[in-house]
Amino acid sequence: MIIAVDGPTASGKGTIAKALAAHFGLPHLDTGLLYRAVGYQCAESGGNPDDPADALAACGFPDSLIDNTELRSEATGGFASRVSTHPEVRQALYERQRAFATQPGGSVLDGRDISTVIAPEADVKLFITASVQERARRRWLEMQDREIELPLSAIESDIIERDRRDINRRDAPLRAAPDALVLDTTSMGRDRAIKAAIDAVEQVLGRKA
Ligand code: C5P
Repeated sequence: MIIAVDGPTASGKGTIAKALAAHFGLPHLDTGLLYRAVGYQCAESGGNPDDPADALAACGFPDSLIDNTELRSEATGGFASRVSTHPEVRQALYERQRAFATQPGGSVLDGRDISTVIAPEADVKLFITASVQERARRRWLEMQDREIELPLSAIESDIIERDRRDINRRDAPLRAAPDALVLDTTSMGRDRAIKAAIDAVEQVLGRKA
C-alpha cells in the first residue's frame, strides 16, 4: 500500500504522515528533507539556489546530510523552496523517491507532488491543509519550543511567499490531486487530525477490500 500525503508548509502533513506510518507499520519518507538537503548544500558551497546549474550540482549531497539538524531551519526551508522550482532538480530527486514509494510492502511519503508525480497510483491520497494564520501560529509555537525568536508576522510572510512559489512553479506545482481527500486541519488539534487521517485511510482500504 502506498500512502501519499501532500500539502503546504506547516499544514501538519509531516506529523500526520509519521503517525500513519507508525499506525500501519510502513516506512516513511519526508521528501521535503531531500529538497532541504539540496538547498543547504547549494548555499554552503557558495552556489545560488535560483541558478539551475548550481542547484543541480548540489543534488549529489552526501547521505549523512539528511540527519543534519540545520536542514530544519527556516533559512534552509527558503533555499529548498527556491531550488525546488528547477525541473532539473526535481528530475534528479525523482528516482530516489520513486524507488522508496514502490518498495515491496508499501510506504508513506509526504511532500508536495507525491499524489500527482511521484506515485500517482498511490492507494490513498491525502491533501492536508490549514489557514495561513494557523500554520504561522503552529510554526511560531514550534520555534518558541526551540527557543528561536521570530515575530509571527515574519513567519506569516515567509509562509505566504513559500506557498506562492510552490503553487505557481511550472513543474509539479503544489495542488491536490483530483482524487485526493482534502483534510483541513485549521480547527483540529494534533490528535484529532491524526485520527481523521487514520479513519480516511481505513475507509479507503475498506472500500478496496
Ligand atoms: O516540506 P518542507 O517544508 O520540508 O519542504 C521544503 C521545500 O521543499 C518546500 O517549500 C517545497 O518548495 C519543496 N518541496 C517540493 N516537493 C516536495 C517536497 C518539498 O517542492 N515533494
